[in-house]
Amino acid sequence: MTYVKTVFSRGITFLREHPQLWFTALVAVVILSSYLYFAWRFASIAQNAQEDLVNVRAGSFLDTFVVFVPDTINDRELLRTHVSQLREENPTIDSLVIYAEHGNGDLRVYLSDNGPNEGTVIQDVPDLYSLAYSTDSSYTMKTQRDGERYFITARAIHDQNGSPIALAVMEQSMAEADKQITENIQMSMYLLLGVLFVIVVLFLRHARIVDFATLYKKQVEIDKMKDSFVSMASHELKSPLSVIRGYVELLEDGAKDEEEHAEYLRRISISANELRDLIDDILDVSRIEMGRLRFSAEPVKTADILREVTDMFAVQAEGKGLELSLTIEEGAEDAVASVDRGRLKQVAVNLFSNALKYTLEGKVAVTQKVLDGKIIEFSVKDSGIGMTADELKKLFDKFYRAEAKEARAVKGTGLGLWITKYIIEHMKGTISVESIKGEGSRFVVQFPVSKEIQVQ
Ligand code: ADP
Repeated sequence: MTYVKTVFSRGITFLREHPQLWFTALVAVVILSSYLYFAWRFASIAQNAQEDLVNVRAGSFLDTFVVFVPDTINDRELLRTHVSQLREENPTIDSLVIYAEHGNGDLRVYLSDNGPNEGTVIQDVPDLYSLAYSTDSSYTMKTQRDGERYFITARAIHDQNGSPIALAVMEQSMAEADKQITENIQMSMYLLLGVLFVIVVLFLRHARIVDFATLYKKQVEIDKMKDSFVSMASHELKSPLSVIRGYVELLEDGAKDEEEHAEYLRRISISANELRDLIDDILDVSRIEMGRLRFSAEPVKTADILREVTDMFAVQAEGKGLELSLTIEEGAEDAVASVDRGRLKQVAVNLFSNALKYTLEGKVAVTQKVLDGKIIEFSVKDSGIGMTADELKKLFDKFYRAEAKEARAVKGTGLGLWITKYIIEHMKGTISVESIKGEGSRFVVQFPVSKEIQVQ
């Protein structure tokens, strides 16, 4: 049962991940249910036809039977021979009984072939018998005994004057016909299983083709993003270089005073840092792709890292007129995670830098807390441009940059979050995000609390 449940829930998940297959699944369900419906219809039509046939046959059998019975009715032994001969020739007849009137509306078994003992008096005469006895037609009734279906047909036997003198009752078993129908239904079920198998095979093939198509679409998208990355990266590489070259030339010509000299150096340093960051990102990507990004885990007080990075970005936030706050909730100050210190800082830098880059006014609030004493959670919440649900879906893809013009107005490579997610997951953490377009975003990072005490 649990296996069926697992298979069923896996199937549902598979369908959820491949919405393109819903139509195919629908077609499969329609085919299967039509098949079942027609099999059921066929079985019930066959059963009805069988019943009609038995009915008619039983009627005509008794009609003929009662024609010759009056001639032999008084010679019971001769009649018995005829009856048992008839029953032998018609194996579906289970019993054939002739009742005679016994007074007071009762009946007595006059002759019995596989029926009740001869001489038995029936006081509660079934309606079917009474009805048949009082008319000149045969009447049939369906009944069930020991799980088998029977047809009971009764017909009166008249003398030359047309008065009833006896009643012939025949029971026919439907066991053989029912067995055939059951076998047919079984056969249809095997066929259905075959059809089901073929559908599943087709379905899986279709799923693979759809997977390839999705993969191809994704590849085309990645290629497009790569192209835009290459042109953006060459621009990002060139522009700080030209800034550096420009200021170096100005310095060579000689600055006006000390202050101007320092300002030129500061701008050179900013551009050099930009270049370094970009090259670091590119190098990280290639290290990740070659599986060469190294991590050395140690007990780290994450609050320290967040404080360090908040200080690092304080000037930038102030310069942009944004409020940058850090809140370490009670009990979270000393929380320690087992992570690579440098890489955790890189994660925080990326999230802080994005929050400040994509926020034009308002604030960036960083909070750390510990959940159930087991999970360290820090979040970076901004009141920035936010993202749509569609943008959120691709957010952690390599080279992904939102299309919106307010996002495009900001410099970026589309690599930061991809690297960030990789790093977090390799340090046994998770990252999630919630965002509302035009209102802001909140990135949440979680790491298991480490039992080790941080070495100062
Ligand atoms: P980038 O170098 O472009 O910032 P990231 O991988 O860090 O690369 O981010 C990918 C994209 O996600 C960004 O281009 C931007 O569109 C979107 N994004 C990331 N952080 C935020 C944020 N805090 N607010 C709004 N959009 C964001």
